[in-house]
Amino acid sequence: MDVLKKVPIREQDPKVRATNFEEVCLGYNKEEAMEEASRCLNCKNAQCVKGCPVSISIPDFIKEVKEGNFKEAYDVISKSSSLPAVCGRVCPQESQCEGKCIRGIKGEPVSIGKLERFVADWAFENGVKPTVNAEKKNKKVAVIGSGPSGLSCAGDLAKLGYDVTVFEALHELGGVLVYGIPEFRLPKEKVVKKEIENVKALGVKFEKNTIIGKSFTIDELIDKYGFEAVFIGSGAGLPKFMGIPGENANGVFSANEYLTRSNLMKAFRDAETPIMIGKKVVVVGGGNVAMDAARTALRLGSEVHIVYRRSEEELPARVEEVHHAKEEGIIFNLLTNPVEILSDENGWVCGIKCIKMELGEPDESGRRSPVEIPGSEFEIECDAVIMSLGTSPNPLISSTTKGLEINRRKCIVVKEENGETSKEGVFAGGDAVTGAATVILAMGAGRCAAKGIDEYLSGKEN
Ligand SMILES: Cc1cc2nc3c(=O)[nH]c(=O)nc-3n(C[C@H](O)[C@H](O)[C@H](O)COP(=O)(O)OP(=O)(O)OC[C@H]3O[C@@H](n4cnc5c(N)ncnc54)[C@H](O)[C@@H]3O)c2cc1C
Repeated sequence: MDVLKKVPIREQDPKVRATNFEEVCLGYNKEEAMEEASRCLNCKNAQCVKGCPVSISIPDFIKEVKEGNFKEAYDVISKSSSLPAVCGRVCPQESQCEGKCIRGIKGEPVSIGKLERFVADWAFENGVKPTVNAEKKNKKVAVIGSGPSGLSCAGDLAKLGYDVTVFEALHELGGVLVYGIPEFRLPKEKVVKKEIENVKALGVKFEKNTIIGKSFTIDELIDKYGFEAVFIGSGAGLPKFMGIPGENANGVFSANEYLTRSNLMKAFRDAETPIMIGKKVVVVGGGNVAMDAARTALRLGSEVHIVYRRSEEELPARVEEVHHAKEEGIIFNLLTNPVEILSDENGWVCGIKCIKMELGEPDESGRRSPVEIPGSEFEIECDAVIMSLGTSPNPLISSTTKGLEINRRKCIVVKEENGETSKEGVFAGGDAVTGAATVILAMGAGRCAAKGIDEYLSGKEN
């Protein structure tokens, strides 16, 4: 065994997986997990824990894996995380726990994410669930949104004995975990639903098809329905567009709409939900969402081009996602920016006009800003365009709640240490506060707000 290298992970062959929606990564088996766990140096002052937004005791769970004590490993993880099977699959470990691993200085870091996934999957297969021993507090807390921030906040509050109800606008629970991230990266039945079952097992109640701001307002939840505190975890689901000519043509989608049709309405399985299966699809953008939309379109049978205005180095998507997209045959048009979407006489997309870019001086984000090269316009023929340019919070909740402060990006303003908003008894976290970010940051914010809500409600008793 080469201790400088991770135990390789088994994956579906790129040619095969480009034609199916099965999970790409197959995970470790027991022997592989124990071998990988033996690479952990079990540092006293563990840097990996500092890199984890929910502070999992990483060396402790890995030590249990090394010794084959998988139940004990699960108990360690589930003290800090309500969604380990999700995080083990989609967290950007390279910039968090694994980015801080001492092994990474002179070789590859320990594969912490894949070990977390192994432990969570082992717990599913063996019927192991998180335990809760708290005394009931007889105090009602409402959680808005069933994404990672809401689930994490609800789980922690239930563990403390609160009577928690999650209100979800959609007919499925899980937020972006079900409607955004595709099946081939995060299986819904095998993983997301089971993690939600574990949150239910803690006693959390769920009300689907309930839009806060329409079905009830936050003020009504507090004044009429007896909730003593509210957590807002409503995400950032409103897509942005470029504002270029032709964006209203038929066959232009936001990545959110495209992915929702495929994931939530299962357009990839049957054609009852209309989805555009273009012969040639252009995806505009370079983040995780763009990679997901591109890889979904590929699996639906299209030739797929990504158009991104900076170079490969600045691609915001996870390295693993870009690597998988390339292996599967996605074509990257880098340093390229769209200027117009072209349509035929019936108003359907028939191409996209782009301009070549070069990198100039660094902007306020520290990245070199792209500058157009005059006279370099060219056209790519295509019959669908998917815009993946980021999202912002939907203003419904802020516009229907008295006294809730938002900033100019329409994000809810909170105190960082406990998620408290400008409105008494109302807390918030996740993408609704930060704008589009990551699963683990949303979970961390949900946990932090659960602590803030507990302190607030305990203070009210005195
Ligand atoms: C396609 C895609 C791929 C991604 N890939 C990754 C990845 O690989 N790794 C990673 O870490 N992150 C990834 N992200 C980002 C990550 O999923 C989000 O940062 C995270 O889900 C945010 O969690 P949240 O709980 O704040 O919000 P969400 O997950 O957006 O959940 C919010 C929930 O609130 C509900 N809601 C909204 N308004 C109301 C209302 N008025 N009343 C009731 N319910 C309401 C919504 O329906 C939704 O279910 C990805 C995002 C997308 C879109």
